[in-house]
Amino acid sequence: MTATGPRNILAARLRDVSVRLSLRFGRPSRSAHQTEPLRNLILTILSQNTTDANRDRAFANLARRFPTFPLLAAAPSKDVEEAIRAGGLARAKAKSILSALSRIREERGGYTLDFLSDIPLAAAREYLTSFPGVGVKTANVVLLFSFGKDAFPVDTHILRVTKRLELVPPSADLSRAALLLEPHVAPGESMPLHINMIRLGREICRPRNPLCPECPLLPVCPEGKRRTKRRGVPPR
Ligand code: SF4
Repeated sequence: MTATGPRNILAARLRDVSVRLSLRFGRPSRSAHQTEPLRNLILTILSQNTTDANRDRAFANLARRFPTFPLLAAAPSKDVEEAIRAGGLARAKAKSILSALSRIREERGGYTLDFLSDIPLAAAREYLTSFPGVGVKTANVVLLFSFGKDAFPVDTHILRVTKRLELVPPSADLSRAALLLEPHVAPGESMPLHINMIRLGREICRPRNPLCPECPLLPVCPEGKRRTKRRGVPPR
């Protein structure tokens, strides 16, 4: 691969996107509530297919009813389901949480994922994705926010934005997009890029009627240029 090959072009485009987003939204810092790895794994399982507000309600109920990992691990599945009902998919999520806790206890002799900090990113992801109900996105959130590894979680907002930017193929799903992009994100850039791309997807690059003329990525976005050309808005 030459210095101007597709890998380097993708890395350069991602760097440029990250700079443009940071200029618009600032440089986000790590959220304190996401730092403890096992807590973060449970929170991220609860976040699947629901809103942040419902996830937080489900997590708060769960923590109130089962304030420690041993209490939660010993709880009947139906009680866990009831506690997390606000987050939806309660049966599947309860099963994932209880099965992760049971296996971690069995393999590590306690409720901790701290050992993952000494394991390379790919192996740590392989371990987490071996749990039922834990995909690449959930694993990457834990590895990025709890361990500071250079994992790049892709959610539906990031998938939409990166497809419109033509950084990933139109057929890519969440996992494929994450694994395609991650090696090209500069070290230390995963977290600000992840947070700022989600913000862009929520506020500007919305599923319907994206606000391309207001978007900081318009000068580097093929889809934005097509849309603004159709509407007669000159690209900045
Ligand atoms: Fe999305 Fe439009 Fe921005 Fe492109 S220019 S990222 S399509 S809002």
